[in-house]
Amino acid sequence: MDLTTPLADIPKLNTRERTGLAKAGFQTAGDILTHFPRRYEDRRQFDSFPNAPSNNPFCINGIVTDRSLRRFGRGKQIFEATIEESEPTALSNPVVLRWFNLPWIHKNISVDHEVIAYGKPKLAGKRLVIDHPEYEIIKPDFEGPSIHIDRITPIYPLTAGVSQRPLRTLIHRLLHEVEAGAIPDLLPHTTNASAIQELTRYDALHQIHFPDDEDQKTAARRYFAFEEFFALQLNVARRRLHYLSQPGASHAAAESHLLNDWLADLPFALTGAQERAVDEIRRDLQSDLPMHRLLQGDVGSGKTAVAIAAMLDVVEAGYQAAFMAPTQILAEQHFLTLQKQLAKLDLRISLRTSSKKEDDFLELQGAPQIIVGTHALLHDGVSFDNLGLAVIDEQHKFGVAQRAALIEQGTVPDVLVMTATPIPRTLTMTVYGDLDVSIIDELPAGRGKIVTAVRPTAKTKEAAKFIREHLEQDRQTYIVYPLIDESETLNLKAATTEYENWAKRLDPFEVALLHGRIPPEDKETIMTHFRDGRIAALVATTVIEVGVDVPNANIMIIDNAERFGLAQLHQLRGRIGRGAHKSYCILLHGPKASEEALEKLAVLEGTTDGFEIAEADLKLRGPGELLGTAQSGLPGLQLGDLLHDTTLVKEARVLADHILDDDPDLKKAEHQALKSLLERTEESLVA
Ligand code: ADP
Ligand code: MG
Repeated sequence: MDLTTPLADIPKLNTRERTGLAKAGFQTAGDILTHFPRRYEDRRQFDSFPNAPSNNPFCINGIVTDRSLRRFGRGKQIFEATIEESEPTALSNPVVLRWFNLPWIHKNISVDHEVIAYGKPKLAGKRLVIDHPEYEIIKPDFEGPSIHIDRITPIYPLTAGVSQRPLRTLIHRLLHEVEAGAIPDLLPHTTNASAIQELTRYDALHQIHFPDDEDQKTAARRYFAFEEFFALQLNVARRRLHYLSQPGASHAAAESHLLNDWLADLPFALTGAQERAVDEIRRDLQSDLPMHRLLQGDVGSGKTAVAIAAMLDVVEAGYQAAFMAPTQILAEQHFLTLQKQLAKLDLRISLRTSSKKEDDFLELQGAPQIIVGTHALLHDGVSFDNLGLAVIDEQHKFGVAQRAALIEQGTVPDVLVMTATPIPRTLTMTVYGDLDVSIIDELPAGRGKIVTAVRPTAKTKEAAKFIREHLEQDRQTYIVYPLIDESETLNLKAATTEYENWAKRLDPFEVALLHGRIPPEDKETIMTHFRDGRIAALVATTVIEVGVDVPNANIMIIDNAERFGLAQLHQLRGRIGRGAHKSYCILLHGPKASEEALEKLAVLEGTTDGFEIAEADLKLRGPGELLGTAQSGLPGLQLGDLLHDTTLVKEARVLADHILDDDPDLKKAEHQALKSLLERTEESLVA
C-alpha cells in the first residue's frame, strides 16, 4: 500500500466506513494520512478535576456515576452524565457533562464507563458543568501498543460519517502498513530551511499523528507547516513567472510633458514616498516586461496621485490607461478628480459605470485616453484599443480571480493594484506574493489630527450637539450605519428611520441619506451636493467605506460600531482627517457590546496607523477570518500559522524561487512529486 492507494483498496474497512470516509472527502490513503490532528491530549497525565469555573479547557478522565435524560419545552432534551475521578481526593468534585438536543449521545454513555472529556467548566447552580464537551469512552485496547491512551493522543477534526476513535485507529494502522519507501521526501534536503532538514517526511508523518514527545510534535508541525507554505509560495512564484513570460511592451515615453504640466499645476508637492513609488512604477513601465505591482499605502496617503502620474506617462507614450474602482461612487469621484486636475491637459477621459456606458464616448473626439470605471470594466467586454496600463484601486475588494481575468485579456497591459493595507506586512508575501510591492509609508504633511472616542449609543444626543457646533463652523459630517446585507429591507428601514431622526436633530442643516439601493443618478447628485457643501451631513451605509474624499468633512459617527471589523472601521474613519481641520471619529456601541468588541474598538482609540491596526486585527481574529479565504485566494492552512510562522514563509519562498530558477516548468524527474503538491494547492485556491 502507498499514499495513492484508493479507498476501495484499503483492506479491513467495511462498507459503512468506506462510505463515511468518501463522504468526508477522502479518496486515498494519502488523503487520510495528511488529515492532521487539530489538537492533542496528553493522556499520560490528565488534569485534576476542576473545582471552579474556568475559561481554559480541562482535559479530565473519570468514571460515569450517574446519568439522566430529561425533556423540556417542545421536543427538547437535556442529557447529563456525571463523572467522578477514579481515585477521588478530598478536594475533587464530580463534574457534569451536559448536552442539549443531541438525543443519540445518551446511547453512547452508560454508568461505569470510563470517559475522557475536554471542555471549559462552568457553574450551573452549585454544580460544575461542561456543556457539549468533546469526549471519548475508554475501552481496553486490543491492538497492541496503546493508540488512544497513555500517550500524546491526536484529536482530529471530524465531519459527519467519521468519528474520532475509528479514524485514529485507521490512521495508526495506515502509518504501519504504508512502507517508508512509499513516503518519499517531496522537498530537497539541500535547502537552508531547518524545518525540513531535521527529519524525513516519513518520520514527520508518524510524529505529527503519534508524537513521541513534545519536541517531536513541534518538529513535525513545523515540517508540514513548511510544506504548506512551500506549496503556496511555489504557486505564487509560478504565477509571477507566468506573468513575466507574457509578451509585454514598454509603455512609457521618453518625454514627460503631461506629467510635468500636471505636477506644475498641482496645489501640493508629492511626498517623498509618493515620488519613490512613482519612480518604481515608471521603471516598470519603461521595461519590456509586464508590470505587476502592488501599491500599498494607508488611507489618505495619496495613492490616487501616484496612479495619475503613472497614467500620464502611459498616455504620453500613446497608450490608453484604465482606472478601476470597486464602487460607482468611487469611480465617479476619480473621474471628477481627473477632470479637474487634468483640465488644462486637454485629454480624452471617459467614465464608464453601470449607468454610463456609451454616452461619453460620443462627446469625445476620438478614442478615450483614460477610461475610468468600476471593475465591471473587466467583464463587460469593454474593448480597449491599446491598453497600456490598468490601475485597480482598492485591490482588497477584488478577488485574485478578477486580477487574473484582467491579466488574461489579449494584450498584456502593465498592471498596478492599489490597496490601503488591510493586511499586515507578514501576510503580504503570501497574499500578494506574485506582485512587486511599492509602499507609501508617509502621509502628506499638514493633516489635521483624528481624535477617536468610543461611547455608548446612549450618548447620541451629546454627539448630535457636538456635530451641530461643527456644522455651524461650516464643517461636514458622516453618520454611518452598519448594513451587513444591503438587501435586508429591515435594515434599510432602520437606516431610513435613523436618517429622519438625524434630520430632526440637526435641523435646519441639510441631511441626506445614502445607501446602496438608491438609484445611481440620485447617488451621484447626493455626492455632488455633499462635495460642494450643500449637504451638511450624510447618513450613510458603508457605501462610503472606500475612497470617498471630501476634505471638509471632519466628523464621523459610526453607530453600532461593534458590528464592524477593524479593517472596515479603519477604512471608514479614513474618510475624515483629510483636510487641515482637526477631525473626530465617534464610535457608538450598543449596550450589549461584548468585552472583545470593546477591546477591538479600543484599538482604534489608540492608533490611526493602518499597519498597527491590521496587526491587532490579525491577533484578535486570526488570518482566516481576517482575509476571508475566498476573497484573498488563500487556501485554508491546516498547520501553517501566518501570524507566527513568518520565518517559515520566508524560507519557503526562497526555496520555491530556487527550485523554479533551476527548473521553471518543473520538468525534472526529481520535481515530479512537487507537482502533486502544487495541484492540491491550486484546487484549494480555486475553491
Ligand atoms: P488614498 O491613498 O486613501 O487613496 P487619496 O489619493 O484619496 O488617498 O488622497 C487623499 C487626499 O490627500 C486627497 O485629497 C489628495 O488630494 C491629497 N493629497 C495627495 N497627495 C498629497 C500631497 N503630497 N500633499 C498634500 N495632499 C495630498
Ligand atoms: Mg483611494
